[in-house]
Amino acid sequence: MYRKTWMQVNLDKIERNLIQLKEICQKKIIAVLKADAYGCGDIHVARAVLEAGAEMIAVSSLDEALVLRNEGYEGKLLILGATEASDIPILIKHGISCTAYSTEWVIKAIKQNCEGLHVHLKVDTGMSRIGFRTIDELHLAFEKLQAANCDMEGIFTHFCCADSNSNLTNLQFSKFKEAVESFSYTFPWVHCDNSDATAFFQEDTSNACRIGISLYGISTYEKSLEPAISLYSEVVMVKHMHAGDTVGYGATYTAKDDEIIATLPIGYADGFVRANQGRKVYVDGQYAEIVGRVCMDQVMIHLEQEVPVKTVVEIFGEHISLEKMAEELNTIPYEIICLLSSRVTRRYIWHNQIQYEENSRLEKSILTKERK
Ligand SMILES: *Cc1c(COP(=O)(O)O)cnc(C)c1O
Repeated sequence: MYRKTWMQVNLDKIERNLIQLKEICQKKIIAVLKADAYGCGDIHVARAVLEAGAEMIAVSSLDEALVLRNEGYEGKLLILGATEASDIPILIKHGISCTAYSTEWVIKAIKQNCEGLHVHLKVDTGMSRIGFRTIDELHLAFEKLQAANCDMEGIFTHFCCADSNSNLTNLQFSKFKEAVESFSYTFPWVHCDNSDATAFFQEDTSNACRIGISLYGISTYEKSLEPAISLYSEVVMVKHMHAGDTVGYGATYTAKDDEIIATLPIGYADGFVRANQGRKVYVDGQYAEIVGRVCMDQVMIHLEQEVPVKTVVEIFGEHISLEKMAEELNTIPYEIICLLSSRVTRRYIWHNQIQYEENSRLEKSILTKERK
């Protein structure tokens, strides 16, 4: 890492969070590592959750699934989103489980050899995204796929309001339960709870929980989890301003008096969005306001007390929680971390020490050079 802007991912805490969640639900755990494990690095997070006892990993697409297979992960792997029926040979070759989500998909699927394809049926109970909406459609899909020698591995649904509305969750759950109980067949994997539902929703229809955001210690309900990720940058320059001096594009900030301004090497190209203007960061005991517009690569902050160059600045972490930052930006923690771009170095703490630092773009460029 040459530019000191990094996301710190504590794999020990992720492991402990997983163990804690497993304790709460007493079911199998499907670790949801889609979108590069919410920006935290799927390969590294996968190692930690597997060590902590996750039984399956879920991702959103075949592309993401193949990243894990290419890295040597040979365990259970499920694609939650849509796949092309024409990609079934690839799914079978790599032993990747997929989601059957529409009658149209099933008809296309059984036109080819899908012997041994691991399938999870998706029931749409109210999310209106992908999935079968009626029990008839569901049974038709089951019969056709089973007749084509698919391995009918699972059945699942997804709640739309697990973080806020228990009436709707109850309603969705009863539809799901009805669907599951309409089969005389016993699915090895029955799953409906995401992180929030795992923490608050008690039910014994499912035998596995799909955990995403709570791996990182973020939960609406469960306060015993440990925040596992944080974002840092550092001061690269400190300057003394005088009344009337302006800061940044558009000169949106004017010093009222003698003021201390510091520059950090983080900007909107890192996923640190422009809406952060006016928010605060934490530097060496003080909360410093982000002044002037956030640039592509840099941002300026107003310091009450001067600090030396190279002082570490916390964007979110111990002093400013990711939840608080999300609230201030009128968004959710998921969006903030998923938007942290590949330019931000990921630093991994595991077994109580810094295990590795990874900048995927820099590493890719080194690999390309080696290949030439
Ligand atoms: C993303 C996702 C999850 C995980 O949700 P969290 O709220 O992060 O736990 C579970 N199931 C499905 C279908 C998803 O798309």
